[in-house]
Amino acid sequence: MGHGSLALALAYAKLLTCQQPSEQDACGECSSCRKNKTFTHPDVHFSFPFPSSSGDTASDLLGPWREQLSETLYFNYEDWMRHLGSENKQGNIPIKECRSIIKSLSLKPFESARKILILWMPEFLGQEGNVLLKMIEEPPAGTIFLLVAEKTERILNTILSRTQTMRIPPLLISDVATALEQKGIEASAAARAAQLCQGDYRHALQLIDQVQSPYFESWKGFLGNAYTRKMDQVAAWADEAGSLGREGLKAYMQYGLALLRAALLHEYVDQRPEWSPQEGDFLDKFLKLNVDIDAMDRMVGQVESAIYEIERNGNAKMILTTLGYGISKNIRN
Ligand SMILES: [Zn+2]
Repeated sequence: MGHGSLALALAYAKLLTCQQPSEQDACGECSSCRKNKTFTHPDVHFSFPFPSSSGDTASDLLGPWREQLSETLYFNYEDWMRHLGSENKQGNIPIKECRSIIKSLSLKPFESARKILILWMPEFLGQEGNVLLKMIEEPPAGTIFLLVAEKTERILNTILSRTQTMRIPPLLISDVATALEQKGIEASAAARAAQLCQGDYRHALQLIDQVQSPYFESWKGFLGNAYTRKMDQVAAWADEAGSLGREGLKAYMQYGLALLRAALLHEYVDQRPEWSPQEGDFLDKFLKLNVDIDAMDRMVGQVESAIYEIERNGNAKMILTTLGYGISKNIRN
């Protein structure tokens, strides 16, 4: 979501409903544009996951949804659930919501020639989502579905196969840095966070807090122990990092992921202006280990899945223990 896919879908909906668009963009001034600005255009519908305790359909949650959109368009599922005060609940797009989508899209548009549905996180459509298939395949006249997903591989195949996929590339480092500076963030911190964030603006905002990373020594120690197969030390690391608390642990893991990715990329790109001298030294030494590229790739993947599981409230120490063994296995082939 940090690449701006939702922002893009909203901009597209705005353009499609604008009464006097220019060649490049919506006018920003007509009554449609003004309604889109507050996310209240009657022909731009929203659907998204929510916990069953919060309501029956997405329209019960339009208030908090608009608040969230006004705050930032670069938020993810966890941010949204936190916004609802439901971080420990499971979000869903239930059958009632699917029926409500069908109902609202079956009506004629109110003000525009088109009706648009922005369905955020279609990954959360379970088998009940199949009731939407017919409509997605043959939408009523003037109806446009914009599915905004994070991981297409988690979308029901029946749905995915009826859509046209557009991958939103990562943002440019320079654009992220500029956006951060416009938020009042000091230039060198902005540059460093932009460099580390993998083109993800949301991630860049998180990284701002830790550009002077308190996590470096810990990751350096862990990777060293994994390499020398000091498994008792690796287990101690899993224990220690596992007690960081969920948010702290997520930031900790994101840092480790950025470090491993930097080591992976450095094979090809001799450019690393934003790492501190200590991190630079470490990366140089790491490269001399000559870990093969597939193994590096696997390690990056292992950290990514660990983050995924942590975000879903898995047992942190168990996840880190598994990760510790996985990395030890790959780091030295
Ligand atoms: Zn307009």
